[in-house]
Amino acid sequence: MKKPLDEILRPILEELKAAGLEWKVNKVEGPSTPYSIVNGKKVLMLGTNNYLGLSNHKKLKKAAIEAIKKYGAGSGSVRAISGTMDLHLKLEETIAKFKRTEAAIYFQTGFAANAGGIPQLLDQKSVVLSDELNHGSIIDGIRLAKVEKLIYKHCDMEDLENKLKEVSGKFEKIWIISDGVFSMDGDIAPLDKIYNLATEYGAYIWVDDAHGDGVLGEHGRGITSHYKLEGKIEVEMGTFSKAFGVVGGYVAGSKILKEYMHNKARTYLLSGSAPPATVASCIAALELLEEDERLVKKLWKNTNYFKRKIKKLGLNMGNSQTPIVPIMIGDSKKAKQFSEMLFEEGVFALPIVYPMVAQGKARIRTQIRADFKKADLDFALEKIEKIAKKLQVI
Ligand SMILES: *Cc1c(COP(=O)(O)O)cnc(C)c1O
Repeated sequence: MKKPLDEILRPILEELKAAGLEWKVNKVEGPSTPYSIVNGKKVLMLGTNNYLGLSNHKKLKKAAIEAIKKYGAGSGSVRAISGTMDLHLKLEETIAKFKRTEAAIYFQTGFAANAGGIPQLLDQKSVVLSDELNHGSIIDGIRLAKVEKLIYKHCDMEDLENKLKEVSGKFEKIWIISDGVFSMDGDIAPLDKIYNLATEYGAYIWVDDAHGDGVLGEHGRGITSHYKLEGKIEVEMGTFSKAFGVVGGYVAGSKILKEYMHNKARTYLLSGSAPPATVASCIAALELLEEDERLVKKLWKNTNYFKRKIKKLGLNMGNSQTPIVPIMIGDSKKAKQFSEMLFEEGVFALPIVYPMVAQGKARIRTQIRADFKKADLDFALEKIEKIAKKLQVI
């Protein structure tokens, strides 16, 4: 007699729960707005990637509704068979224009772009150098590639160079893969320095701009705009699920790269294409940013105000350089308590604890949005100060 599956799974879940590491369901009623109803309570939402508030923007909603009326609810196929509507092609042109690359290809998600795209570029003659804090979808993409992998210390250019020296001449291709903005710390990869090293050692670069799109550079064009490296990086990958407020991933680069991915990336080839409403909203998001930089400017104004005040309170924000603002607590239990107390006071911000970050580096992660008013930020700051004092963080 076989053991029922639940009997195998239950103890694993119980172990997670005992360690305080389970993900609870947070039920959100209504759209992602500055204030949300979470688990029945109205809270100021400091825990979304919706940096520009685009997910509930009227232009994006209108585009989705019109696309459903014209194209229906689904695409009916995978991209390579009959699931490429004119809308999908228009989106890809719009991405390429926005990112200032020759071409772009749209995936169903950013995860699919990394997990499906990376293994098609790394072959047996490649070696990959990967930042130790890279996103899980990059890690999975590299795993699928079954190549030699060297992990360099987080944003440590000396370590990267040592590793480049180590592999130089031994492999046909060297790839460097890095997040552009790191989601737990909010710091920015030194892509200018990575680019110089890559040029010196003949390496290729894959950069993941998930948290940089809509945030960094002019009009929110992302990390290559931030460093004035537009069109110089072999592969720019990104997502529509964060600042762009919708869902979907992309790979931007040359026309050949696009055609190659269209023929090779399995997550793209073997999975239904995105529905028209989603695609139309993505186009609307890019068009909106292309026309108008005000939301990006407002995001930074809010971020700078919030950070100035957090610093004044004597709180530690680690190495944050972006609207991802961690508030360092240290102890995991204390970080959890901090988050629970914030929720009671009407502010939603989750704790990030070991093993998501190193032991002793637990934090509350806050993410600032363009659609917060000064009063919203002041409300958050007042509650953060109150609890930080109570828990003797300051
Ligand atoms: C969120 C994220 C992804 C995944 O993107 P989705 O489109 O949400 O699947 C990939 N890389 C990084 C760095 C991310 O933060």
